[in-house]
Amino acid sequence: MEIRRTANAGVLLKLDGAEILLDGVCREVKPYPATPPSIKAELSAKWPDLLAFTHNHKDHYDPVYAADYQKQTNGVVLGPEDLTGIRTSAAVTCVGGVTVTPIPSRHIGAAGKCTQHLSFVIAGSSCVWFLGDASPLQWRNADLPKPDVLIVPYAYLTTKNAWEITQSFGAEKVILLHMPKPEEDTIGLWTAVKETAGNDCRVQIPAMGERIHI
Ligand SMILES: [Zn+2]
Repeated sequence: MEIRRTANAGVLLKLDGAEILLDGVCREVKPYPATPPSIKAELSAKWPDLLAFTHNHKDHYDPVYAADYQKQTNGVVLGPEDLTGIRTSAAVTCVGGVTVTPIPSRHIGAAGKCTQHLSFVIAGSSCVWFLGDASPLQWRNADLPKPDVLIVPYAYLTTKNAWEITQSFGAEKVILLHMPKPEEDTIGLWTAVKETAGNDCRVQIPAMGERIHI
């Protein structure tokens, strides 16, 4: 499989021949980066097989790209029903031999009260959990297949407790997204992550545009 970071907290996942874009085009919310125009152009020149968005926050969702995708391809966009400008589905969806299952899940922190949020379990020859901004606390007794790869935001690694929960999922690889530009990291997220999991070989923090092969 190939995982390419294309957004602040999003990737293009290529698994078993299917191309699935997960929170993969976003706008800028400082200190988090937007999808660069060159990557957005690539993702419009060759549309992915399936789009999935966890929730409607700007740093996860670009409504212009999503509407354009739907207009051009009539393709499925998985996500909560309040994503603006598009028709969404929250049904289990198959792309080739890959199954994408949306999981209703609570957004981290106070935003959980008023934000509809879906996480995604992607199962083919490997199993990938894509957790968007879902709270780490809700997965303890989740009846889900074990992930080979976990794709998570910073909250899963910034405290010792959260890192213990993250490890308990049993994934061989943890892809960490939603990290600020280092020069704009005024709240010390890079330092916190390095303190909890900085030397762990399972963890990878891709730069924008970087491809990881697993
Ligand atoms: Zn959010």
